[in-house]
Amino acid sequence: MSGKPVDIKDELRDTFAGLREAVTPKNGGRVLVAGPCSAESREQVMSAAVGVKEAGADVFRAGIWKPRTRPGCFEGCGAAGLEWLKEARCLTGMPVATEVATPLHVEQALESGVDVMWIGARTTVNPFAVQEIAEALKGCGDVAVMVKNPANPDLELWIGAMQRLYNAGVRRISAVHRGFSEYGRSYYRNPPQWHIPIELHRLMPRLQMLCDPSHIGGKRELVGPVARQACALGFNGLIIESHCCPEKALSDAAQQLTPSELKELMISLVGKPVSDTSADLMMLRSRIDMLDDELLEILVKRMAVSDEIGELKHASNMPVLQPERYEALMESRVDKGTAMGLDREFISGMLAAIHAESVRRQLAMRNR
Ligand code: PEP
Ligand code: MN
Repeated sequence: MSGKPVDIKDELRDTFAGLREAVTPKNGGRVLVAGPCSAESREQVMSAAVGVKEAGADVFRAGIWKPRTRPGCFEGCGAAGLEWLKEARCLTGMPVATEVATPLHVEQALESGVDVMWIGARTTVNPFAVQEIAEALKGCGDVAVMVKNPANPDLELWIGAMQRLYNAGVRRISAVHRGFSEYGRSYYRNPPQWHIPIELHRLMPRLQMLCDPSHIGGKRELVGPVARQACALGFNGLIIESHCCPEKALSDAAQQLTPSELKELMISLVGKPVSDTSADLMMLRSRIDMLDDELLEILVKRMAVSDEIGELKHASNMPVLQPERYEALMESRVDKGTAMGLDREFISGMLAAIHAESVRRQLAMRNR
């Protein structure tokens, strides 16, 4: 493979359109992929599939090969579950999705007609594993693949995984934001770090993006709030874990919703359909929020340095105000800002306000 980056912005296709019964999202134009964390038994798979279909799901999910962080947990039912997925597909008419982590998984999933595969967070981190999966998908350009973000907050790794699939001819690629691992205790199981998927959307505006509030939240009561944030940010769909009897689930019991809780959540999320313009507006506003936070942090740092200067001036009995320094500073910054496209009046007003505040702080220091 050439090391040349491939621009995958323009040729991507809708991941879900035309799969089996064409997926026509009912939930305010967003795709809903739902189902249990793991396929556990034939009965559990069938009842979950019927339940999530009734809750408005477009695609049924169930993991059969489960990557667990520590050994000894339920590691999935394995290839036996493929038969159950096939049956769930016949029963409900929904396309089915499962996680693949090795070329053998891909081969077996293709053989049994799995419609959508996803690459999990623990696989996306590994370029060797992703490359092997991509090779196994060569010649199956029409297969739909959802790529979860890597467990660590590395956007390049996430994009790189999608490029590997693209280079292998896969065109139905979507990204799934499932939050990022953090060592130690956090409010979320995997904190969302929204700026990362927002940056991905900026770099690849045509890429379909789904959010997985179940793995971000890690507990039932956080699924709704995180899903609401994702919808407000304009995500194209959600992937939500749902089990008919969550407390008995063999994996991720704390974060699964019953199908009726899922239905209630979806009804509450639909509200008024969000137009494309307002989705873009939300994205842009959250970028502004982040930039404003950065501006505030820079101002705090600048004031701290000016306090240190104030201490030095005080110690050496220098006056607070040095008009030549002020003039030189204003002139050079205003010229620089103007050359960078900022308005002269605006930049000089802003610098004067910052300078006035530094002087106020240095004077206050002398009165202490
Ligand atoms: C899952 O979807 O069940 C799963 C294992 O997800 P992740 O790779 O996001 O941890
Ligand atoms: Mn899970």
